[in-house]
Amino acid sequence: MDMTIPVNLDSLLKQVTGFDEFRAGQEEVIRSVIRGRDTIAVLPTGAGKSLCYQLPVHALGGTVLIVSPLLSLMEDQVAQLKMQGEKRVAALNSFLAPKERAEVLANLGSYRFLFTSPEMLVQPHISKRIKQLRIAYIVADEAHCISQWGFDFRPDYLRMRDWLGNMEDRPPVLALTATASEKAIRDIADYLLMEQPELFIHTPDRPNIAMELIRLSGREEKTEWLLDHLSQWKGPGIIYVQSRKRAEELAGLLRSRQIVAAAFHAGMEGEDRILVQQQFLNGELEWICATNAFGMGINKPDIRWIVHDHLPSSAAQYIQEIGRSGRDGRQSLATLLYSEGDADTAAFIATDDLPEPETVHFIGKCVAEGMDIREAGERAGLSETALRVVSYWMDRLGTEQAAIQMDRLADTKREEIFSMVRFAEGAGCLRSRALGLFGYSPTVRPALCCSECGLDSSRILIGRTAARNSSGLLGWRERINSLFVVSGEE
Ligand SMILES: [Zn+2]
Repeated sequence: MDMTIPVNLDSLLKQVTGFDEFRAGQEEVIRSVIRGRDTIAVLPTGAGKSLCYQLPVHALGGTVLIVSPLLSLMEDQVAQLKMQGEKRVAALNSFLAPKERAEVLANLGSYRFLFTSPEMLVQPHISKRIKQLRIAYIVADEAHCISQWGFDFRPDYLRMRDWLGNMEDRPPVLALTATASEKAIRDIADYLLMEQPELFIHTPDRPNIAMELIRLSGREEKTEWLLDHLSQWKGPGIIYVQSRKRAEELAGLLRSRQIVAAAFHAGMEGEDRILVQQQFLNGELEWICATNAFGMGINKPDIRWIVHDHLPSSAAQYIQEIGRSGRDGRQSLATLLYSEGDADTAAFIATDDLPEPETVHFIGKCVAEGMDIREAGERAGLSETALRVVSYWMDRLGTEQAAIQMDRLADTKREEIFSMVRFAEGAGCLRSRALGLFGYSPTVRPALCCSECGLDSSRILIGRTAARNSSGLLGWRERINSLFVVSGEE
């Protein structure tokens, strides 16, 4: 075990990565972790968050435990570390065959980087083994998931609080995320049991993403708009849709116009999803019509255009989704297609899977009579997710309070949607409004700002054929210039 803490972080950086300089925001986070402080870092997408958790362990020794929300994200990061020559890395997740899992568990102490999910982490036999390791620090990657998913979708995120609380000598925790509202930061600090965490918060403003809001009468007009504009202008891009059915419908319609598109949603087979992802990453697919199942951990730097066919269920969701464009720093566009009925649909879908208070009472009664909670859940017709959520809150609060909690969760979801409605129906610069939802303001006013600031999206988008491109020869130089608009340029 090497406990030498180098005075010079630059030489450690050079030695581990070959780079000479840190990117903005990285160094202070790394110093805080090395000093043993609980740390929350909100860094914009593309700022090099991974280095923040990868470097300190080289100074501290031991194992870094990284809790990650998605299998694809873990696999991606394991592959990335291996490519950098790191051999002591493993992911402990449900993807592993029993034999592979046994092997990882047998060698647990030998890893420098150990990735796992909250669900795996809180399993008693795994938890026991992990707690025997010499953990240098614990990392919550995409930490906004604690706030976004913990309460009504993946309660094992909230169970991490007890997990950490039961550790004899809890190592410091580092939370990393690209987007965090004040509430998310409070939830992160609370559920990761952080003690006076160091906060490093960088604005989520991405001046290279122009924003536009298009008001349309409803679904049919949206379909028309999409077919018309996507036949005229090129991607690559993602259309975010509300349902699996809509994803399939739009992908089919685009293909009928000779636009290479595919659907992506949680209802597809795992292999099909991987194939679609790969094709998109390789540039073989121009458009993905996706539900919110697509995106986190997808590292495609040249996505030029994100279109929302529906009203996202929260500001955090919206900012994350549009943030997937323009990671290469080049000019990109985010289009929100909005119609009045969108809020009702969004509210219905967001609360559809939340059990009613009466259902919680019914389950409570069944369990009191000696029935297994799983069976009670089946009788009540609950989905697996809903049952997970109900069991968590019943354990924690008892039946009465758990029933009340269901109403509270539904209210929170409706409030989040309402803040999106205020965003869509408000007045003034869209970028200011979007950032305002998180308590930020724009860092600069880019030349290509938003539809409220007089944006002409044809200055950003690339025409499918020269003949179809109405801006013609004169627009050519302008368009080339617009590709290189940098933040701060007026
Ligand atoms: Zn604007």
